[in-house]
Amino acid sequence: GVHGVRLHSGTVPLPGPVALVLQDITETRRTEAVRRDFVANVGHELKTPVGALALLAEAIEQAADDPEAVQRFAGRIARESDRLGRLVRELIDLSRLQGGEPLPELVPVEVDDVIAEAVDRTRTAARAKDLQIAVGGHAGLVVRGVESQLVTAVTNLLANAVAYSEGANRIAVAARARSGFAEIAVTDSGVGIPRKDRQRVFERFYRVDQSRATSTGGTGLGLAIVKHVASNHGGSVTVWSEEGLGSTFTLRIPLSSGATSDPHGEPVAA
Ligand code: ADP
Repeated sequence: GVHGVRLHSGTVPLPGPVALVLQDITETRRTEAVRRDFVANVGHELKTPVGALALLAEAIEQAADDPEAVQRFAGRIARESDRLGRLVRELIDLSRLQGGEPLPELVPVEVDDVIAEAVDRTRTAARAKDLQIAVGGHAGLVVRGVESQLVTAVTNLLANAVAYSEGANRIAVAARARSGFAEIAVTDSGVGIPRKDRQRVFERFYRVDQSRATSTGGTGLGLAIVKHVASNHGGSVTVWSEEGLGSTFTLRIPLSSGATSDPHGEPVAA
């Protein structure tokens, strides 16, 4: 509330004006701290691939008369610069999404198109791991949104489903209408997420297992981007997961008025 300062879980009553000032300062400090952490994290994340590239360049110089070694190092340079490129792209996406720029106009977007494009973008990675992506649910749903952002969000969820699955498992993406929202669920039967990490995975740079995430080429930004896309659209993203069984991420985006209603779900309030 306005008339108090939040101290951990309790609220200390204070006269109005004093409380307002105090709360303002607390809020500013917190924002500053978050920004400082973010810059420090970005610096750290950039340092790793840049350092690796420098070492690899040196290694190539020294291995000049060993074509096989040169080949190997060149491959690693390509992988490291891929990762660096992805990191920079995601940082730009994230900074655009989390404010500053006004959101482009929300227009009717076909959920089927979003899913098809996201599946397309993930197909190569899925094939490389012998994973199938099944598309199901209700066809013809229309949401109010920014198509490019929605494609990015669903692509990130699918890319994670692929990255954190092992063996020839199936991944499913399905849409349905519920209470005025389109729910897009991405399900995998991969490694799952331990309970203690489940809410934190949406934080920037948060990874359940640093070493595993690095080997999958992850940046720790994918789900933070999904969360921003959801909130920009007046929607949400939630996770269900069980360690060793798999995960389902559900993205909810408001249906466009006049959108197809789900005959088996609740009436669509648009
Ligand atoms: P990353 O680039 O590391 O995948 P994300 O923000 O997309 O970053 O995800 C954060 C962390 O959440 C990942 O490092 C991983 O530990 C966990 N995670 C995300 N999606 C899944 C999933 N489908 N199955 C298991 N763990 C996941």
